[in-house]
Amino acid sequence: MSNHTATTITVDRPDSSSKVGLAVGIIVAFLIIGSIFIYFIWFKRRKRSSESKIPRPLPAVKLPTTTAIHKPVLKVDTTPKLAPSKAPTPPVDIRLPPISSYSPAPRVLFHKPPSSIRYPCRLTISDEYVKSLTQLRPYLNTRYKGGYCYCTKHYPNDRSDTDLKAGSTYAVPRGWTAYLINVDPVFAKVKNIWAEWYTCYYGTTVNKLQMILRNRFIPFHGDMLLGGELFTTHLDDKEHCHTSPSIKYASDQYFSPRTIFTTSDNHVYYIQVVLQCKQAPDSVIPGYKYINNDVIPNNHVEWKSAARSSVLPHKLLIRVLERDTEKY
Ligand SMILES: [Zn+2]
Repeated sequence: MSNHTATTITVDRPDSSSKVGLAVGIIVAFLIIGSIFIYFIWFKRRKRSSESKIPRPLPAVKLPTTTAIHKPVLKVDTTPKLAPSKAPTPPVDIRLPPISSYSPAPRVLFHKPPSSIRYPCRLTISDEYVKSLTQLRPYLNTRYKGGYCYCTKHYPNDRSDTDLKAGSTYAVPRGWTAYLINVDPVFAKVKNIWAEWYTCYYGTTVNKLQMILRNRFIPFHGDMLLGGELFTTHLDDKEHCHTSPSIKYASDQYFSPRTIFTTSDNHVYYIQVVLQCKQAPDSVIPGYKYINNDVIPNNHVEWKSAARSSVLPHKLLIRVLERDTEKY
């Protein structure tokens, strides 16, 4: 009997404990498989998102990824910038009111009957004077020995008092002699100055000529030039460069004071200098000035510019006057 009970006990125990062990094992295995599955899904998602977004800064992959990012950024940057600049009013317009508002008057307005004033030929005197300005020699065009004379003999009175360049009229410098100034051909070509820039005059003094020609453009008051020279003007307006399509206006003694020149045969003359210039059309700020009996209308006489490098001298004009007469 005791034997029988002993056997039933030994059979019962291992059976129940193995069931529990099996259940625990299944649960543990399920948990392990589940966590592996969840980790696998998480890893997949992370990989996919890392492909679509900017990758984290990984030192080894940095170079290829930055170039990959750089390209799309450039594409995005340029297209929207170009697109709006075409459609709305360009901001450049703000800078241009003087250009668009100023349109030089047509040539027909400037026709006048031939003048009765006679301008004596002073070509030999002005040639001698220019030769005496040895410091200017490098800046003048040496292919032409003498000047272009606008006396009555060389430019008769029945010829036009005005000329037209780039759609802008300017006065022919009657009574003056012109000498060509060397102009930087590259700048002239790039800016197309002979076809597009207006012709104007800039009255000045002999002692400023070298400074101006060395600077290529008409400097502004207060400009520190090459060689440490400070450019100054005696004009009240220090903010602008004053020019004019009228030789009569530019040669006013306010702009172009007279100096004395004694020739080799001891004749004493008054000398005036004016620079004939090319001026960027968009730099012209027009103004009104009353000048009696000028070939340029009063509302086109006074020009000024606030832009540097906008007025380029290309001819040196000399006027020789008898010392004791005030003919002009
Ligand atoms: Zn002459």
